[in-house]
Amino acid sequence: MKCPYCGEDMTKGVLSPSRDGAVSYWITESYEKSHPFMPYTKKGLLESGAVKLHTGFGLTHPADPFWLCRHCRKLIGDVQLPEE
Ligand SMILES: [Zn+2]
Repeated sequence: MKCPYCGEDMTKGVLSPSRDGAVSYWITESYEKSHPFMPYTKKGLLESGAVKLHTGFGLTHPADPFWLCRHCRKLIGDVQLPEE
């Protein structure tokens, strides 16, 4: 994939999972700046506009693909949006 910002080649990869979980969340900046803790309840996840990022775990939990542009330091990924 070519970077849409600078046109250089991007490198495909995944977000490496932490030792205690196989997912991470994208949340809105406004939620992050107005709450002291990250959301963990269903209500908090909805309010924060959370999008689950599948970081994968072994061979049974596939990871969402992300592309990195090292030239302009952009990360672009395909994510699975929650059902609305
Ligand atoms: Zn770029």
